[in-house]
Amino acid sequence: MDQPVSRGFDPRVVKRQFPGLSAPDLRYLDNAATAQVPEAVLAALRGFEIEARGNVHGTPHRRSRAAQAAYDGARAEIAGYLGVPPQEVVFTYGTTFGINLLAGALAERLGPADRVVVSRLEHHSNLLPWQKLARRRGVRLSAIPITPEGRLDLDRLDEVVRADTRLIAVTHCSNVTGAETEVARILEVARAVGARVLLDGAQRAPHGPLDLPALGVDFYALSGHKMYGPTGIGVLWGRSEALAELPPFTVGGQMVRSVTMESATFADPPGRFEAGTPPLAGAVGLGAAARWLGKLDWSAVQAHERRLTGHAIAGLQALPGVRVLGPHDLERRGPVVSFVAEGVDSLALCLRLDEDGLALRAGHHCAQPLHAALGVAGSARASFALYNDEDEVDALLLGVDRALHELRS
Ligand code: PLP
Repeated sequence: MDQPVSRGFDPRVVKRQFPGLSAPDLRYLDNAATAQVPEAVLAALRGFEIEARGNVHGTPHRRSRAAQAAYDGARAEIAGYLGVPPQEVVFTYGTTFGINLLAGALAERLGPADRVVVSRLEHHSNLLPWQKLARRRGVRLSAIPITPEGRLDLDRLDEVVRADTRLIAVTHCSNVTGAETEVARILEVARAVGARVLLDGAQRAPHGPLDLPALGVDFYALSGHKMYGPTGIGVLWGRSEALAELPPFTVGGQMVRSVTMESATFADPPGRFEAGTPPLAGAVGLGAAARWLGKLDWSAVQAHERRLTGHAIAGLQALPGVRVLGPHDLERRGPVVSFVAEGVDSLALCLRLDEDGLALRAGHHCAQPLHAALGVAGSARASFALYNDEDEVDALLLGVDRALHELRS
């Protein structure tokens, strides 16, 4: 079922495995929003629905056993990609749900004597759940400031992280500036005060396998649809000891040991956090995506994505009145290139680019406080995946140049 992905790397060969990219006039550059899906994932989804569709958790017939095997297999695949044991992988519906799950569970543990630290760089998904916790439980909320180039200002960590800090929740890679977080420095400060660390991995997980235990954090949230898998599936990973101390967030079927009319006792993780029928096909699709990603030559893919990013940054910066947000050097930087053009609204620009088949995102990208800190209301954003190539970046640069001339005249 799987198509081989050879050593070395040719984006044009890989692109042929993505039926959604077959239209010759489409240049899909909105991968930070959602990526396209390879044949291997489509085949796994179809295979599950036809050959293994049943419900999980203890039904004795063969279809249920097939579904359970597929679900367990998917958990093992994504666990392998993250470098963690399967029982530490909680299936969610995406990064947003994973972070809400953690915040909701912590609502039973934290109160006015406790602090959660986020950053100014965050997607609203890693800000609003903590604002809600602050409103509901009186938990204090502080934010790590950013540098003018859109990185976390880690020199000011000590100003924000105090002895009352229980959790530091920051992005692994910004969906606007592309800045990647220096995790070791966050950990150092977190460990000094006994705080746990959550990384929002939505923008990092698609760009190569991880070794989360070596990274040293406690929780990691990601979305399947950004890493070539289906929508409606994601992962919240937690170290065994960190998950063990959390109560469930959602409650209902399939996550209990025993129930009386008055009370219930709950299953061990990960089941405790997976109430109700899970998104089974989604999990199987994500498992297939992880398996597919695991076969790639990642040093070649990462070098390729870095080349595209560098080419786009240099080309956009060279256009009159264009400012690329975020760091311009490629060190610790993901393939996300947001930019503003003097005198031109980013939505008008992206609508014009769409006429040339260039798919970019416009607006605040669910990061309003970050845009405000950068002094702009919104931006246009090109974000690259492994199937993009240099010709598409050239088309982007040409398209932006042409559109700006038109829109400014
Ligand atoms: N965090 C970051 C950094 C993101 O870029 C996104 C989506 O763009 C999210 C969280 C939310 O992901 P989802 O909508 O899949 O829950």
